[in-house]
Amino acid sequence: MNADAIIETRNVSKRFAGFKALHDVSVKIRPGMLTSIIGPNGAGKSTFFNMLSGAFAPNDGQIIFMGQDITGMRPHEFAHTGIAKSFQITNLFPNFTALENVRIALQAHVSRYGLWRRRSALHGLSEQAAAVLKTVGLTDRAHHLARELAHGQQRALEIGVALAGQPKLLLMDEPTAGMSPEETKVMMALIRKLVEERTVVLVEHKMKMVMGISDRIVVLHHGELIAEGTPDDIRANDLVKRVYLGQGDH
Ligand code: ADP
Ligand code: MG
Repeated sequence: MNADAIIETRNVSKRFAGFKALHDVSVKIRPGMLTSIIGPNGAGKSTFFNMLSGAFAPNDGQIIFMGQDITGMRPHEFAHTGIAKSFQITNLFPNFTALENVRIALQAHVSRYGLWRRRSALHGLSEQAAAVLKTVGLTDRAHHLARELAHGQQRALEIGVALAGQPKLLLMDEPTAGMSPEETKVMMALIRKLVEERTVVLVEHKMKMVMGISDRIVVLHHGELIAEGTPDDIRANDLVKRVYLGQGDH
């Protein structure tokens, strides 16, 4: 495995009906760090996210995860790779409790490995689910129905569901979209905590939001990689400044 990258895109391009949503993007994501993919609306961030998460394959180029070429891997194979995503579309069972939602996700991963009939495997699922809820800060909401949770708590629960598979890499697309400033603060702290045990990549169009918490920043613009570096590198980058100039919400 390439020690300086847990996942890497090599000259990746994606076209939609001839339109270049991504063009020749080569990025190395470092293990154990929080990397944010930023760029104005339409930059290609979600397309990049969808490619890392296996939602679709690039037209050109390769994606290498932990030394393995995963380009074009089918979604059911992808589930085994150690990559998990949490994204804007709600993925919860609204009429189940927070604890049950995580438990169901844990059970799905246990059964995937053919262990679900074993009592020993099932035993302790509730304890494991409780531990996941603790990680995402929802211990006191364990027995509330998912639909009764506040928006920020639902997003935290989605992250809990994503964590059930013990991913090596967690991908998040605009995790604070639609959140209040208070919820955003809580989510940012949670993301920082998650990085202590795994690699996290998040996609975000608000540059200021990620500057304070990211280890590395990748900037996309019109489907191309325009900068990569530490938050300080990016702050000092003239091209990035120009691209973000005049944008209201950075
Ligand atoms: P971002 O997430 O940075 O706002 P996207 O990756 O969603 O940008 O989109 C990049 C560009 O690709 C946009 O111009 C968008 O209109 C186009 N695009 C994205 N998905 C599709 C699609 N499924 N079909 C056609 N065009 C698309
Ligand atoms: Mg997007």
